[in-house]
Amino acid sequence: MNIHEYQAKGLLRQYGAPVSDGRVVTRAEEAKTMAGELDGPMWVVKAQIHAGGRGKGTFKETDAGEKGGVRLTKSVEEAAEEAKRMLGRTLVTKQTGPSGKQVNRIYIEDGSGIERELYLALLVDRGTSRISYVASTEGGMDIEEVADKTPEKILSFSVDPATGYQPFHGRRIAFALGLEGPQVKQCVQLMGTLYRLFLEKDMEMLEINPLIVTDRGDLKCLDAKMGFDGNAIYRHPDIAELRDTTEEDPKELEASKYDLNYIALDGEIGCMVNGAGLAMATMDIIKLYGAEPANFLDVGGGATKEKVTEAFKIITSDPNVKGILVNIFGGIMRCDIIAEGVIAAVKEVGLQVPLVVRLEGTNVEKGKEIIATSGLNVIAADDLKDGAEKIVKAVKS
Ligand code: GDP
Ligand code: MN
Repeated sequence: MNIHEYQAKGLLRQYGAPVSDGRVVTRAEEAKTMAGELDGPMWVVKAQIHAGGRGKGTFKETDAGEKGGVRLTKSVEEAAEEAKRMLGRTLVTKQTGPSGKQVNRIYIEDGSGIERELYLALLVDRGTSRISYVASTEGGMDIEEVADKTPEKILSFSVDPATGYQPFHGRRIAFALGLEGPQVKQCVQLMGTLYRLFLEKDMEMLEINPLIVTDRGDLKCLDAKMGFDGNAIYRHPDIAELRDTTEEDPKELEASKYDLNYIALDGEIGCMVNGAGLAMATMDIIKLYGAEPANFLDVGGGATKEKVTEAFKIITSDPNVKGILVNIFGGIMRCDIIAEGVIAAVKEVGLQVPLVVRLEGTNVEKGKEIIATSGLNVIAADDLKDGAEKIVKAVKS
């Protein structure tokens, strides 16, 4: 689960990390009052969406192509004007994809004078099963590009959980970033604070880009991106409260209501599968036969007819879906339940695209019979290979 920059900065502030004072604005009328509560003499106006690259992003709608979801302004009036201009519009960045994201909240912040822009991140490194720091002198830019072109400019190391964070970790980062004098001490303290925050809130990712040295020589977190482990959210009601469902894919949101493991993808073949492993294998074999999956969907082991119906509805609501492959291995799940769910769903939402069903396992004969006698135009398949070949062929022809 991801949160907005202003929410991430709220957590940083709560833990004592250096951030600027700021106000969040959701209605244009509030913009001037909010900006007026800040000291100035610079006000930064920042579009709040769950995507990075806002500074270089472009707006749609009025003055389409206009640049900049992050604006530096010199007065309260100008800040309020910019906030009003951004609210409600769609911002397209490298990370949003071409459709962009609607800006529903603006963060107005006290502007900082910048001496240097650095990069810092903490993440869960699955290779070492530890928390890792990633630091670079090349802040404010696209870190993927830095990693690609000048990997020597990135320092990365993991922390042994047996010792936890130690001041030498912070000093190592400080020296790699070329920090001097009191900045080293600030860095050691900040790195410890971030580690504690990361651990205590069960984060997956924390990125400060840029971490800056201000014109007064102090460290400050100028941007903040945080991702939390969805499986641990139940332990953190304060984090759960920060969820902004308007930032999520509506299909994924709907799926989460029914406890379906659904991830939207870009392809043309909708998949309904039980078990994460089989779902992965199904996606692989679709690719092998020359098509792309439109989603990952694991209906789970003990799916009911209702759950299957909902899953089917979510798949068909995706306009990119040109065909559907149902691939079920009935172990705990019974094939006749799946068949009934599919039939019920097709009757309810109709079937505009080819549907291939492959059933195997418990009550398979009963399941096949239900489908065969349903009168619906369903293509039956005998195994995974057969199913994938048939759906790809049906979609491509
Ligand atoms: P992103 O583009 O979504 O990553 O948004 P950031 O919060 O990182 O802002 C983009 C860029 O705007 C930063 O790299 C800075 O160069 C600039 N910026 C943001 N806040 C300030 C500020 O307070 N003062 C100055 N001078 N520049 C800022
Ligand atoms: Mn940034």
